[in-house]
Amino acid sequence: MALLHEILRVQKLGKNHGGYHGETIDIRAGLRAVTAAAQAHGWTSEIFHEAGEFKWFALHRKSGAGSKEQSVRIYISAGIHGDEPAAPLAALRLIQENRWPENAEIFLLPCLNPIGFTSNKRENAEGIDLNRDYRHPKSAEARAHIAWLKRQPKFDLYLCLHEDWESHGFYLYEQNPDGKPSLAAKMIEAVQKVCPIDLNETIEGRAAQGGIIQPKINPTERPEAFYLITQKARQGYTLEAPSDFPLTTRVNALVAAVNAAMDFNHR
Ligand SMILES: [Zn+2]
Repeated sequence: MALLHEILRVQKLGKNHGGYHGETIDIRAGLRAVTAAAQAHGWTSEIFHEAGEFKWFALHRKSGAGSKEQSVRIYISAGIHGDEPAAPLAALRLIQENRWPENAEIFLLPCLNPIGFTSNKRENAEGIDLNRDYRHPKSAEARAHIAWLKRQPKFDLYLCLHEDWESHGFYLYEQNPDGKPSLAAKMIEAVQKVCPIDLNETIEGRAAQGGIIQPKINPTERPEAFYLITQKARQGYTLEAPSDFPLTTRVNALVAAVNAAMDFNHR
């Protein structure tokens, strides 16, 4: 059976030399759309940091009352790197589509680095890569985010949405130290219908298989995901869309992966 991305001949655009040079987004308009969609679907919003014109907010969706299945707490974050526009766009689409399982309690941070998006830069205004700032945080953004995280309950699952300008397809990092039923293959299977998978055996210097990387937990690592796996959750995934492909393809990939992970009721 032909896959959609094969029929559409989705290919690398060849624009990314030394960094991301593809489409950019208006993050102010994007965040207004996120706020409107979240309000329309009954989410609550908590501002946990402000700088200049921007507010950092966490969205919360309660699990459905009367759900027979046990409530599952899921954390989703996007937009920590300002040159990865598919991530906040995927968060927006997920809120607009509103296809969450009844028993899912969702904590969603739609954009952790809005200032980065104003100049298509990975880092914040001070040049700090926020996703390397969760061990001994120096940035106001990471400090405020960690303070917010400390006020939250433990999560059953985390999903961090990213893009990689060098990759040849979608891939993901899995953290699953207790050997719980993995969601990795299910996410790859869903994504490959809409976007190529990076099948290289080495990605970002790490061993990979079928688009899945399973790094050992190293307590000296500094990304958000390592903070989450050591402090807040026992299973989680960092999702990487290939940013040399069309933006719509990358948003489709991230949305497909998140939706596949929401199938946890049947794992
Ligand atoms: Zn990233």
